[in-house]
Amino acid sequence: MYGFSLNLPVLISIISSVKHQELYFNPRQYIIKGKQIIMLLFKNGARYHSIGPYLTERFGRRTFKAAIDGGFTCPNRDGTKGRGGCIYCSEKGSGEYAGIVTDSRSADGRITVPLRLEATATASPYEQIRSQVSFIEKKWPSPLCIAYFQNFTNTYAPVEILEPLYRNALTWPNCVGLAIATRPDCIDDSVLRLLEQLNQETFLWVELGLQTTSDRTAAIINRCCSMQDYEDCVRRLGRSGIRYVTHLMFGLPGETPATMLKSVADICRDGLFGIKLHMLNVLKDTPLEKMWLQEQVPLMSQEEYISLVCDALEIIPRHVTIHRLTGDAPLDLLRAPLWSQYKKDVLNGINKEMKRRGSVQGCRA
Ligand code: SF4
Repeated sequence: MYGFSLNLPVLISIISSVKHQELYFNPRQYIIKGKQIIMLLFKNGARYHSIGPYLTERFGRRTFKAAIDGGFTCPNRDGTKGRGGCIYCSEKGSGEYAGIVTDSRSADGRITVPLRLEATATASPYEQIRSQVSFIEKKWPSPLCIAYFQNFTNTYAPVEILEPLYRNALTWPNCVGLAIATRPDCIDDSVLRLLEQLNQETFLWVELGLQTTSDRTAAIINRCCSMQDYEDCVRRLGRSGIRYVTHLMFGLPGETPATMLKSVADICRDGLFGIKLHMLNVLKDTPLEKMWLQEQVPLMSQEEYISLVCDALEIIPRHVTIHRLTGDAPLDLLRAPLWSQYKKDVLNGINKEMKRRGSVQGCRA
């Protein structure tokens, strides 16, 4: 973000660039409405605080997330917490793109789903990173990476198993950090101590799959984890100084725009490092697919989703990094909504709507 001082050149710039009610002088930096400067834009003129530019600035060059399949399962599948998993969770534990690169992209020019990767938990984290870097560096030479343990519950094992896996990823020469996706009820004291240690050694964040703050909805989606679990988890992570990113999903059964925005407001508190927002995607062979086929799950339109994401961005504090604003389900798994495969269209729609509103992240926080 940029600072601001109203000196003469700036004033002249403002006056000379007045257009209608809303104007943009030096459009990479400021939004002005009428005579008032209402909010600073983010780096490169963005209207929200994307994690990509944040990492590039922090580490000095392009930094991507290498999606790792650590070979875990989930306590919501093996009977420890529940069976069958969350209703939307795919066979690969919501980690479709983790693993070894096997292909590039669809023949359809409009499809913006990124890489089709084959999850191979047998390959070490190091090998998985190497495979992904070999693809990514065709676009970005010598990229840095954050090793993102994505599939299933990546703290669901004894620390004797977890630590070597995490450390193996960190042996990749350009690996500058770790992102570990897990459930809020799956970080016991021994895991927390390991995370504390790693947090001293590298750039670490933990990703928590929450999706909603409503325990009523949590029961419908079979999350088998309560809001109290989340509260306890973020308190313990906060005490340990560990960054965390919370995932929310828009369009869950029984939810309204008001309840979805309440979830956003509920999680926006001190200590939150980032947010992932995602539309509900119906994937093949999930319990959600059955509900959808029985017409029990109305899905949001693209316009409704874009509008809701913009409402959410407006109430998310400026310091919170945005890790995702849309989904990218593999085309061979996605049943609905089909508009979600056009990721660029969704992101462009969000940017356009934010601009139309004269909004930036946090303008109503
Ligand atoms: S907690 Fe995560 S991995 Fe487990 S069933 Fe739910 S979405 Fe899938």
